[in-house]
Formats: sequence, C-alpha cells, structure tokens
Amino acid sequence: MTDFMTIDDLGDISGKRVLVRADLNVPFKAGVVSDFTRLEAVKPTLNDLCAKGATCLVLSHFGRPKGQRVSEMSLAPVADALGKVLSKPVVFIDDCKGSAAQSAAQALNPGSVAVLENTRFYAEEEANDPNFASAIAQLGDIYVNDAFSAAHRAHASTEGLAKVLPAYAGRSMERELKALSAALEEPKRPVAAVVGGAKVSSKLDVLTNLVEKVDHLIIGGGMANTFLAAKGVDVGKSLCEHDLTGTALQILGKAEASSCTVHLPYDVVVAQAFEENAPSQVVNVHEVGADDMILDVGPAAVEACADALKVCRTLVWNGPMGAFEITPFDRGTVQLAQAAAALAAGESLLTVAGGGDTVAALNHAGVASQFNHISTAGGAFLEWMEGKTLPGVAALQAA
Ligand code: AMP
Repeated sequence: MTDFMTIDDLGDISGKRVLVRADLNVPFKAGVVSDFTRLEAVKPTLNDLCAKGATCLVLSHFGRPKGQRVSEMSLAPVADALGKVLSKPVVFIDDCKGSAAQSAAQALNPGSVAVLENTRFYAEEEANDPNFASAIAQLGDIYVNDAFSAAHRAHASTEGLAKVLPAYAGRSMERELKALSAALEEPKRPVAAVVGGAKVSSKLDVLTNLVEKVDHLIIGGGMANTFLAAKGVDVGKSLCEHDLTGTALQILGKAEASSCTVHLPYDVVVAQAFEENAPSQVVNVHEVGADDMILDVGPAAVEACADALKVCRTLVWNGPMGAFEITPFDRGTVQLAQAAAALAAGESLLTVAGGGDTVAALNHAGVASQFNHISTAGGAFLEWMEGKTLPGVAALQAA
C-alpha cells in the first residue's frame, strides 16, 4: 500500500502548475464553514508545493450537484476559508476545465494557490470520463492526490487524472496510507480490532475481512446484540438484527477457523428508555429483562477487553461501544478508549482509528490526540477495513 510516489519524489517543480485533489467537502452552518479539519489537512501539501515554487490548483467535489451547476454548491466560499487557513489569498476559478479556466490558471504567480470550481458540476466527473480527465489535465503539469477520504471513488479527479498526468500522493494521503499499512498490512502482532456501532448489516464486510486478519476482535455497540442473540441470549428490546443471527454465527465460525478470538460483552448496561440519564443498571447478558435495551457494554467487559489490548501491539478501531452520545451510555466507549490511549502513550500499542462516529467518540473520550493515527475518512476508511482496493490509491500505485 505504500508503493507510490510522494512530494519528496518530485524534482524541480518551480514554475509548474500542480493539480491538487483535496477533499473540500466541508460542513457549513449559517453560510460559513463550520469545521476546518479538511482544510487544515491539505495545508502541509499546499505549503510544501508552494515552497518549491509551484502553483497549486485545488480540485474537489462539494455536495451532490449531479452534473449541474448549482450555485449553493459552488466552492467559492470554501476558497475564502482555505485562504484563512493558509493565511494568504486564495484565488477562485469558476470552472475546472476549459479555456477561461486555463487562462486564469496561467495568470497565477508561482507559489500561489487557486481553488477550481466543483468537479461534480460535470456528470463526467462521477462517470470517470477519460476525456473529462484530459480536459482538467490541460490546466496543470502534475497531479497530487491528497484526498484519501475520496479514494474509494473511481472518479475523474480521484482516479482518472492519475492516468494522464505524473501522479503523486500528497502529505495527508501519504500519512493515511502509511498508518493504515502499519495497522493491517504489515502489523506488529498480536493485532486487535474494535468494531462497534449500530448495526451488523452496515459492517458485515468489515467483520468478515477482519476475522481473517486480526488476532482479537472486540465487538461492541448495537451490533454486539445481534451476536449475543445468535448465541441464544435474550436481548429484550435492544437494537438487534434478528434476521442476521445466521450471518453472525458464520462470522464467529470463520473467526474460530482463523484463530481470531472474538470478545463479546458478558455484562452490559441496560435501560428502558433511549434517553439522557435514563435509569440504568449493569447486568450479566443472561439477565437482560424483556423490556430492557442494551445501551452500552458493562465494566467487566471493558476490563476484559482492556486486558486483551495489553498483550496486543496494534489496534484498529471503528465504531462506539455503546450509545456514546447520551450519558451514562458513553462510559464503555470512554473507558476502553482511555485504556487504549494509555497503552499508546506507553508505546506498547500502535492505535489507528477512523470513521465519522469513531472520531466523535474518541474526541468525546478526550483521547483523540493520544491515538497514533485518526483517519479523517469515513467511507474510504470502512472500505479499507473491508479489505477492498481503493481506486484512488491503486491509481497512485500504478503511476
Ligand atoms: P455506526 O454509525 O454504525 O458506527 O453507529 C454509531 C451509532 O451506534 C451511534 O449513534 C451510537 O449511539 C449507536 N449505538 C451504539 N451502541 C448502541 C446500542 N447498544 N444501542 C443502540 N444504538 C447504539
């Protein structure tokens, strides 16, 4: 996964124009960018390229305009926000191809940055049309992909461009791929995975892939209920996909055949209402009442999982252990995350995490900065955990 070229492999690029694929699909609140994480993520790449005397033309999708020009999905306001992050003016060019965009790009001084208009204003972007990729390529000399979070899409700006221009990984992409490779491809063993979240159905491929790759699989969250039900536990009114108990048993069988130890909770926190501070109690999984909902893993389960982590060298984490958004059902997630973070601090455990809710959960636990790597990607991180080839990454490797 790390056999690709990076910015360090670029020769003299002064005066060259570099098309940088970033993920500028940032959240807005009341008309202004409300989270700068993705803009901060591309900053090292833009700074490095500008320092080498290149001009950066930033490409990105934004929203789902479905091949139409939709003014609310213009990247113009994002260009301004990027300027704030870079502490310098960022030009906006209101197209990503064509002669006007080309002239505007040529007029830029070396060391400057411009944002091109939303690539998804053209249907050819998502269709990965090679002519469209060639038209974008007319604007630049080199392609740098810094959007790991879009690498699971085979689109013109994420995959097609790597076939028509010399292609390199940007700093964020490089960092992501090195961390992910260290976590699952060439990991120090034993390896543990924590998989939580609401449903088994959304993470079937993740679980199926992981049981063959990791030594310990810790299952928590709502999806653990389906596994418990499969093992004959009465989970009361808990979130549970009863139609998937057969699949859960198959996954457990595959784990056994692969010598992967699966950790399911043997105590849980139950309540009769899914609400903040609902009266709750810790019970053994065999004592869940008919009206109870399992909303978190219990303290004994957390302790057992933390003990398992103590013997591991690598951890991959996706999904919360419980309904972490509401107290007190955040406790299992917080305590296990803190145990992992302490092991990371002691350098006995390499900790890699990713996926939207996971980042929020680890932030809530106050340990995000102690993890070795937190992926900013959602879908791409999950597809990587599923063992799938990411087209955007494969194109960099082929280049
Ligand atoms: P996911 O997007 O699949 O990672 O799921 C995250 C969501 O799962 C969060 O909103 C949690 O509140 C929810 N969740 C975790 N554990 C449970 C549970 N035991 N019962 C209901 N929802 C849960």
